[in-house]
Amino acid sequence: VAGQVLAEPWASVGSHLRRRGLRWTPQRRLVIEVLAESADHVTGIEIVERCRQRDPATVPSTVYRTLDVLEELGLVRHGHGADGREDYHVQPADDHGHLYCSGCGGRWELGDAQVRSFVSEIERGRRFSVDLSHLTVVGRCVECGPVEAGTPD
Ligand SMILES: [Zn+2]
Ligand SMILES: [Zn+2]
Ligand SMILES: [Zn+2]
Repeated sequence: VAGQVLAEPWASVGSHLRRRGLRWTPQRRLVIEVLAESADHVTGIEIVERCRQRDPATVPSTVYRTLDVLEELGLVRHGHGADGREDYHVQPADDHGHLYCSGCGGRWELGDAQVRSFVSEIERGRRFSVDLSHLTVVGRCVECGPVEAGTPD
């Protein structure tokens, strides 16, 4: 609903943007309204689609640039889906990776405890700091079963 009253932290976004020399445009406000109504996970494409439902003139690049600024402000954090496209966490509470099933498209979260040994081995062995939100593992869930091996002999 256009003109709705936004709750925090969304209500302050306009002043954050102005402090960075960015204008608080109707397009940017629309992105904020869509995010304020979104659950924890939403893809970039879904955000663009929801903006378009309210304003058919929505330009995807404007939406993505706004999302970049919101990520700098800590209001969203992106990872990537199985197709490599952006997948956003709205107001991320904790870092986690994801499992994606290539059969049914299902998605499950990989919490810190489940990946601790893998992550700590990389951090110690490679001295590489892991961004857990970018950990995307693609495979098959138990219901879809493993992909059948090629040619039987
Ligand atoms: Zn990324
Ligand atoms: Zn599956
Ligand atoms: Zn997630």
